[in-house]
Amino acid sequence: MESCIFCRIVEKELQSKIAYEDEEVVAFHDINPQAPIHVLIVPRKHIPTLNEATEEERSLLGKLMLVAQKLAKELGTAESGYRIVLNTNKDAGQSVFHIHLHLLGGRSFRWPPG
Ligand code: 5GP
Ligand code: ZN
Repeated sequence: MESCIFCRIVEKELQSKIAYEDEEVVAFHDINPQAPIHVLIVPRKHIPTLNEATEEERSLLGKLMLVAQKLAKELGTAESGYRIVLNTNKDAGQSVFHIHLHLLGGRSFRWPPG
């Protein structure tokens, strides 16, 4: 998926500040952070939205959550609190169509979200 910006980040064709990577997952700091901690956690595999995920991706989706937990601990926001966001399609404001979790922390968040 050469045109996908997150595929290009995963392939290191585009520069990013990487927070974690393994054979399945890459996490990097958001270019336009909405909180003191704002990391994007993405699978190396190109999946456009949660709507396209299948049973085949069950463990990969779980892995994204566990990477979020690990980074929340490492970045020091696990105890104070953090938010995981997965935007899907237009009404949620998804702008990059390669599935990703947002890990947001370092401040308090309102509920319900806007
Ligand atoms: P979405 O709106 O799709 O849920 O989130 C996409 C996120 O990707 C946004 O928070 C945006 O700031 C971030 N983003 C877009 N392009 C880049 C980029 O080239 N590098 C990094 N690090 N983040 C990006
Ligand atoms: Zn992609």
